Amino acid sequence: MSERDDLLVRIKKSFPAEPWSGRAAPHECPQCSALSLQLDGRAWTDLDGAELDELDVVLPLLSPEAFRSLVPAWLHHAVMDPDRPAAGYLIVHLEGGEHAPGLSRAQRDVVRAVVRFVLANNIWGDDDEGNRRALAAVESLW
Ligand SMILES: [Zn+2]
Repeated sequence: MSERDDLLVRIKKSFPAEPWSGRAAPHECPQCSALSLQLDGRAWTDLDGAELDELDVVLPLLSPEAFRSLVPAWLHHAVMDPDRPAAGYLIVHLEGGEHAPGLSRAQRDVVRAVVRFVLANNIWGDDDEGNRRALAAVESLW
């Protein structure tokens, strides 16, 4: 099995695909309300890459529960295409470590493995200074 296929299997095993229900973005404003409506009733497997590319800065807005339920969509599409916009947003968010405490140890293992894969396979590659800094942050915070 290729490294990519192996990671996709690990994501599926570690994050159950159950429909999210509730207010995904708890902050009270028009943007967070629209986002919550868009995500209500969706499982992570329902979110395609094009939709995630349009949801540019939403990861910091998600509640810990919504993040745990839906972040596997970003992980999956980042592995499928490490250069797509959603992969970039994902890495930037993960560098902050903000949602790490809400995930299980096994889920954080998958997050780190996905980030290693994305940074080794995106357009900049292993030697890029920005990629190296992002990897160091994710390895220490997740
Ligand atoms: Zn808001």
